[in-house]
Amino acid sequence: MSARVDVDGTTAALPTGGPGALGAPWSSGVRRRPDGEVEVAGVGVGDLAAEHGTPAYLLDETDFRARARAYRGAFEAAFTQIGTGVDVYYAGKALLTVAVARWATQEGLRVDTASGGELAVALRAGVPGAAVGLHGNNKSDGEILAALDAGVGRIIVDSLVEIERVGDLAASRGVVAPVMVRVTTGVHAGGHEYISTAHEDQKFGLSVTPGPDGGTSPALAALEAVVARPELELLGIHSHIGSQILDPSGFEAAARVVLQLRADLAERTGVLVDEVDLGGGYGIAYLPADEALEPAPVAWDVAAAVAAVCSELGTPLPRFSIEPGRAVVGPAGMTLYTVGTVKPVTVSPAAGASSDAEPFTRLYVSVDGGMSDNIRPALYGADYHAEVVGRLSDAAPVLARVVGKHCESGDILVHEVLLPGDVRAGDLLAVAATGAYGRSMASNYNALTRPPVVAVAEGDSRVLVRRETVEDLLALDQG
Ligand SMILES: *Cc1c(COP(=O)(O)O)cnc(C)c1O
Repeated sequence: MSARVDVDGTTAALPTGGPGALGAPWSSGVRRRPDGEVEVAGVGVGDLAAEHGTPAYLLDETDFRARARAYRGAFEAAFTQIGTGVDVYYAGKALLTVAVARWATQEGLRVDTASGGELAVALRAGVPGAAVGLHGNNKSDGEILAALDAGVGRIIVDSLVEIERVGDLAASRGVVAPVMVRVTTGVHAGGHEYISTAHEDQKFGLSVTPGPDGGTSPALAALEAVVARPELELLGIHSHIGSQILDPSGFEAAARVVLQLRADLAERTGVLVDEVDLGGGYGIAYLPADEALEPAPVAWDVAAAVAAVCSELGTPLPRFSIEPGRAVVGPAGMTLYTVGTVKPVTVSPAAGASSDAEPFTRLYVSVDGGMSDNIRPALYGADYHAEVVGRLSDAAPVLARVVGKHCESGDILVHEVLLPGDVRAGDLLAVAATGAYGRSMASNYNALTRPPVVAVAEGDSRVLVRRETVEDLLALDQG
């Protein structure tokens, strides 16, 4: 295969918003009006704050749909080119609401879930069971039964214990459960490189590497255990190598390992599985200087690698699937806050800095949310970008840190960003690219109520998930 896939640029490229758009990391519908106020999909942030309050998660529906289409379009083009098909599953754990599940389905994606709760949201949205996958390293009997009763398209099993459990529960229901086995390939990716390790020290998956006594690898043993149970139908092999991946070579390396395992299984048992899933992890831009991963080149690289390896191994091509979460919803979202206090803090140069290093001032800008609505900076040191969005200022920029209102000094939303020197209480401030793992990882720390999820499209906004109230919290408290 030498020619590059000729993908249709309108469906396979990520949305940019065109002239006037603020551009990445903001969603394509974000622009600054001539008077300096920022709008999302035609609605000014002032109106959004007045109608929905702050903090609020804003979701640019058109942008979400365009990203879903871009991933599907790019992978369909590339895998059709090599002569097989592909299914794109939206990884619901990034953000799942009934409307979001419907958008994904309407754009031709399937939906992956990782718990009974996520499964319930997908089913409430009307996603057909056959288009839903269930993940998890410790699914309960109840979750497995709910999946079987919904007729889910696949249960991704993660251990020998679980293979027996799913087999027994399928037998109890008199059904055959469609399963994939999650394996670990030793390939770990995230950021700009991948690393390879033989032995895995993590809770997910079954290793393709034989244990210290040699012999069969845990992955092969699990695949054989599935083949041995008549209540289980072995659909294929699953591998997820990491997140926020910017270099597609990790996917190619994982594909090689999985395809080799598929060939080994076929040689030992005569069973050649039909499907290979390479998981999610496609990286996005969080900062203005970041490059997002475009789906079309990745799709082509992975498809070309799959075609080459299958031809080396002499095995027919499998059907493919991928599971992007962050890449579909992350850039479509932003969080709108109101600034409450502003405090300059003098910072001494770090110990060991050169003796002529001067103390400097960092402006602490406190907003009305924090680590309860976005835990990623505190949890992973994740970087975000923020701007004052209610007005344009010509004040000189100053080094600022955006912090929340929690009783925790690690309650940081943006470690370092230049904000106008006149930023003040009452300003509307937005943090970009919070669509993935913001609301879905939110908590009620300090008994804060979780913000609403508001969809904005074509000059209109609507609430997808309403703001929690203190009454909601008190209703759980039995006194
Ligand atoms: C988290 C996860 C995904 C989605 O990852 P993103 O980085 O959001 O694309 C996909 N598949 C599996 C199995 C996951 O655990």
